[in-house]
Amino acid sequence: MAELIDGKRISKEIKDELKAEAEKFKAEGKEATLAVILVGDDPASAVYVNNKKKACEYIGIKSLSYELPKETTEEELLALIDKLNNDDSVNGILVQLPVPDHIDENKIIRSISPSKDVDGFHPLNVGALLIGEKGFVSCTPAGVIQLLKRSNVDIEGKECVVVGRSNIVGKPMGVLLLRENGTVTIAHSRTKDLKSICKRADILVVAVGKPKMINAEYVKEGAVVIDVGIHRMDNGKLCGDVDFDSVEPHVSKITPVPGGVGPMTIAMLMDNCISSLR
Ligand code: NDP
Repeated sequence: MAELIDGKRISKEIKDELKAEAEKFKAEGKEATLAVILVGDDPASAVYVNNKKKACEYIGIKSLSYELPKETTEEELLALIDKLNNDDSVNGILVQLPVPDHIDENKIIRSISPSKDVDGFHPLNVGALLIGEKGFVSCTPAGVIQLLKRSNVDIEGKECVVVGRSNIVGKPMGVLLLRENGTVTIAHSRTKDLKSICKRADILVVAVGKPKMINAEYVKEGAVVIDVGIHRMDNGKLCGDVDFDSVEPHVSKITPVPGGVGPMTIAMLMDNCISSLR
């Protein structure tokens, strides 16, 4: 039976470390402040924003909340970001994505000062990651690295396969595994013979956005499997991009959904907020 990689426990461990660090900073008169902007009334986004605010409260990060109506214009949103960019008391700015269709997401991402871009989406931070310089790293892939390290999975020299090449998950995931000296393949929708490529992996990270797509035919015996995907099924339950029941008997370690990668994203966002005080 595979060992479950417990994202709930590991994310709590990280949040507790950050809480202690925030207290130390507070004693030195330093406090992190995160500005969270939500445009519109998408219920899923509202839940994410609420969870981020709760995590801030737990750790001791001040959160400023801007809940704007869906009619907010791009100019109005850019003006708010500009104000926050110039506010020295604000360390981090997060615009909950997706924004309504009439607002250009790329323009918004680029308008956030790279030094306050705690989501790690600004091209300058993405570039810094690629060339190994300091900068904010996208939270979900950073969380996957923590899951591996804190579960004693050695990445160095391992065959790592990432399925998916999105800008927020797949690509930074590949770069982070490379930074840890893994030998990395990034697969995508045009990849030929995906099964045999995945079967080579000692560490298989799946961020494909297709419920239960990766079954036992894609995995090597004893591999470590990280499932980034999250989907709500018709019966109301959550599942990942990996068919857990099919894969689990064949692998050494695997993340469950829920309770695997999901809780790590917020923990790493909090880490990015605190890191601006370091
Ligand atoms: P995207 O839809 O942006 O990217 C999916 C990637 O998978 C693309 O690169 C695409 O290739 C590739 N792909 C699609 N179909 C196939 C296929 N049949 N074979 C091989 N590759 C394929 O998704 P995201 O990266 O944003 O998210 C991936 C998953 O992770 C989703 O389930 C999402 O909900 C989840 N997620 C979870 C988070 C968390 O906190 N747990 C955070 C972010 C995402 P191509 O580029 O060629 O189109």
